Amino acid sequence: MSANSTLKTEAIVVRRVNYRESDVIVTLITEKYGRLDATARGGRKSSRRFDAGISPYIIYEASLAKSPKTGYLQLSELSTKRIFENILHDYSRISLSAVATEIIRDFAPPSREESHSYHVLAAFLESVSNAKNPAGALLRLIMEILDFEGYFPVMEKCGRCGTEIISGTFSPSVSGMLCHRCSDSAAFDYWDHNMFLQITAGGDETEQFNMSLKMVRTLVSYCNNVLSKPIKSADLLR
Ligand SMILES: [Zn+2]
Repeated sequence: MSANSTLKTEAIVVRRVNYRESDVIVTLITEKYGRLDATARGGRKSSRRFDAGISPYIIYEASLAKSPKTGYLQLSELSTKRIFENILHDYSRISLSAVATEIIRDFAPPSREESHSYHVLAAFLESVSNAKNPAGALLRLIMEILDFEGYFPVMEKCGRCGTEIISGTFSPSVSGMLCHRCSDSAAFDYWDHNMFLQITAGGDETEQFNMSLKMVRTLVSYCNNVLSKPIKSADLLR
């Protein structure tokens, strides 16, 4: 990124914070540059330059420029490419999307040039807006991010004794599963690995929603451990 250069990329808003009288500080997950923080001058007022009020759950085409004075990125324009209406009208879809957005944002370091986070989040939004089991979409997103970041949990054998297992408990101390014999008080919830494989293979059945949500909660606890901070929007899940 050289001074004065304009960046154009697809982007999803993952945080917005009001700043001064009319500006907004925006965090974007972008297709070309990974996570970027930028200032949107007049972002609270200009609907001409910033479509839909700089909102989450929208795929935008973003234009950014580096200020030659300060070196900071400025967001000059957002135009809508794809809006996911269904998410906005459904409590579980919107709360699951809030968790997905926070996980993507917290795992992605600033300015790491990669497109993986963007594509995982864009695919999630597409899936969560229509899936019969929207919690399954979040389960897949979390596993894809953990895999990409190198924290994929040990799932098919006990993390302590090595026995192959299909059910057990999930423990942060071994970053994965424990068999019933090795399970300790620090382990989280019961984990049914066959059910997990069914759901993440694209199982889209409504009756899997509650089980998926339970597994999401377990994996969010694991993410909290990895990140050393809580995924706050997980409080919204119900
Ligand atoms: Zn064991």
